[in-house]
Amino acid sequence: MRVRIFDTTLRDGEQTVGISLTPDQKLDIAKKLDALGVDVIEAGFPTTSEGERQAARMITDEGLSSEICGMTRANKKDIDVAVDTGLSYINTFVATSDIHLEHNREMTKTQALEQAVEAVEYAKSRGLKVEFGAVDATRTERGFLKEILGEVARAGAYTVTIPDTTGCATPEYMAELTRDAISTAAGTPVSVHCHNDFGLAVANTLSGIRAGAACAQVTINGIGERAGNASLEELAVALKCLRYDQKYETGIKTELIYDTSRFISKVMGIQVQPNKAIVGDNAFSHEDEIHTDAMLDNPMTYESISPELVGRKHQIYVGKHTGVHGLDAVLGDYGIRPTEEQSRRILDRVKASADQGVRITDAQLLLITREVFGEK
Ligand code: MN
Repeated sequence: MRVRIFDTTLRDGEQTVGISLTPDQKLDIAKKLDALGVDVIEAGFPTTSEGERQAARMITDEGLSSEICGMTRANKKDIDVAVDTGLSYINTFVATSDIHLEHNREMTKTQALEQAVEAVEYAKSRGLKVEFGAVDATRTERGFLKEILGEVARAGAYTVTIPDTTGCATPEYMAELTRDAISTAAGTPVSVHCHNDFGLAVANTLSGIRAGAACAQVTINGIGERAGNASLEELAVALKCLRYDQKYETGIKTELIYDTSRFISKVMGIQVQPNKAIVGDNAFSHEDEIHTDAMLDNPMTYESISPELVGRKHQIYVGKHTGVHGLDAVLGDYGIRPTEEQSRRILDRVKASADQGVRITDAQLLLITREVFGEK
């Protein structure tokens, strides 16, 4: 099954606290996302600012292979702004949970339903392709969610989305809501948008896809509001590599994942945690003697993904857990071949330093090696 990847790094990702990008930066990121092979780039929220509109225009004019989409509220003003910005594809939304209807919007369910249908119909009349999301879907009364998604599908929405806006869904519930939506949307593709408040964004996204969702909204490095969104790299690699009874395909060129992650991390100024799956500094790093020895024999002993698949390499680090083989492998990369006796002496010094809490960089290792080679 082909899963459509809808990237929202430039919209939900940019809503990360402390982040704001210039139109030029957004264009640079859009080009990277296009090269990576995402199906849709959500370029931003055009009504927000002139810069957002300029960015959306620049990205649309670039003639990328990815489709370009912009977010709008479900009203004529926002939809008109999207059209004036040159967009031909929008992602619109209405909040549907009781808490949002009562406290945020002061609307009844009937009013929300009418607003959603009218917005989809209006956008269609203006020639737009429309994706519709029921905000806070996972806290929405289940019967009402099914009803509104069915109505907007009948009104001509291109895709209906189930956003887990507060990240509170379980994988099981996400699957149930996806099946509900599929049964009511009568052929309209269903998409999922999951947040990571419980660390389940990717699990929930996978669960939606397993239940038949054809599209997922994700971000690079999992950035996004609060604890972030489902991460594109984790989802794409999971779909490609995990053992399922069905084959899943995306347009993602996985070997470009690491480079894209690093680029976006640098432009946005958000570091990725070292132990983050796929793109974290330590995701393919080894120090421990038992692991390193086995890895040098066959990398699959302690890794389930080949780092080359995502554009990376194994890294072996030297520290207090290192053994002779690991040390020789690291020094071998510098063309240094110590004798067995020298290796042991280098390791003794490394371990003594590490026990003092010193982190051994390659520069320090080379210094220690030089000193040991100088000894009689
Ligand atoms: Mn979101």
